[in-house]
Amino acid sequence: MGPSTTDVVVVGAGLTAALVAETLRDRGHAGRITLVGEEVHRPYERPPLSKGVLTGTADRETLFVHEPGWYPSHGVELLVGTTAVAIDRGSHQVVLDGGERLPYGSLVLATGARPRVLAVPGGPLRGVHHLRRIEDAERLRSALAQARRVAVIGGGWIGLEVAAAARTAGAEVTVLHRGELPLERVLGTELARLFADLHRENGVVLRPQSQVVGLAGAGAVTGVALADGTSIDADVVVVGIGVEPSTDLARAAGLAVGGPGTDQGIVVDEHLRTVDPHIWAAGDVASSFSPRLGRYRRVEHWENARRQGALAARSVLGEDVIDDRPSFVFTDQFDLGMELTGDLDDPARTRVVVRGDVPGRELVAFWLDGDRVVAGMNVNVWDVAGQVEELIVSGRAVDESRLVDPAIPLEQV
Ligand code: NAP
Repeated sequence: MGPSTTDVVVVGAGLTAALVAETLRDRGHAGRITLVGEEVHRPYERPPLSKGVLTGTADRETLFVHEPGWYPSHGVELLVGTTAVAIDRGSHQVVLDGGERLPYGSLVLATGARPRVLAVPGGPLRGVHHLRRIEDAERLRSALAQARRVAVIGGGWIGLEVAAAARTAGAEVTVLHRGELPLERVLGTELARLFADLHRENGVVLRPQSQVVGLAGAGAVTGVALADGTSIDADVVVVGIGVEPSTDLARAAGLAVGGPGTDQGIVVDEHLRTVDPHIWAAGDVASSFSPRLGRYRRVEHWENARRQGALAARSVLGEDVIDDRPSFVFTDQFDLGMELTGDLDDPARTRVVVRGDVPGRELVAFWLDGDRVVAGMNVNVWDVAGQVEELIVSGRAVDESRLVDPAIPLEQV
């Protein structure tokens, strides 16, 4: 029997995949739905892995998107601990690691991303951690409970969130990062400084322009060697140097992957369709076209996984919808909570203005291109992200003096 046109297979069983399944059922899809995931778990949320799981305020059971019973009760088949090794586009089948073939009418690739590995001597030493999965976070939590000196390699989101958790656990913490400031490439100098100050005030040591050339130790790690000839003692090393989208399957199947302006992702249109009318891609792995921005974007954040999972499902069902909202990122570090709305291609090409109190870290910052808001970040100020989004999406000219005046509601700027 050939595949039914209503059979949906999702490769990947993370948050995006969960949202595909949930949205398909919510919208009345009656066909088979199968999620194929390499990890042994049902879909779970990753943001707590570098926050609450490390500080002990979130345990494993709080992470899962659905109760175990949700999958059978919604007729969603979960093939976890299973790797898809090939896509046979001719016969519309996904080949699994055991040789089994799974027929599909529609296939959604939600394969996510994998951590970049530090290519230096000493990488496999005990005490060296990467952070992507539940097990990684639980192992790191145990290590932090014993750690005296933690070196964090990488000044991105994992680097700073882990530094905060490690410091909270009482360790001495050094962040080894490229450039002058962590997050500088993402936020620009002025707002990256806000995070640097937060970390320094909490006792984290930041080492700019650090190029790691090796990890020292025999069996267990004891330190990190830098290109300038210095070394940092550490009994725990956390590597947070970004991720690579997991595109192998798509590439081997001849789908469009990478190319100028696509940040190495699977190339999809604004409906998340690949060049094959039966295959979609969504989440971290997808470079999707944004008509509003006039370019592709690949977004590695929680909100994007949710939005694109839902959008892929609707697109599979033939709905003519897009979701072109500005990207949304959040973080919690020490006593700072932040939400960032917008897609900052190059913060250096924008101008930053602030309403609120920078030293007191209670503010909304805006990145302006001319007199238009392209992104906004609220720090320890809540319930404004929707208004920031409206300023961006409307593209309307703003009066800067009103934008920075906290007495004027954002919707009246
Ligand atoms: P990331 O946020 O992309 O940051 C990677 C950092 O590593 C950047 O500072 C980058 O520096 C640096 N880097 C890249 N290659 C390097 C190399 N070869 N040697 C040294 N440094 C290098 O990635 P991440 O922090 O590893 O996090 C992993 C993924 O989880 C990302 O997708 C991230 O968005 C996601 N995540 C998100 C959150 C959140 O949204 N709050 C929290 C945790 C994790 P340059 O800037 O100089 O390139």
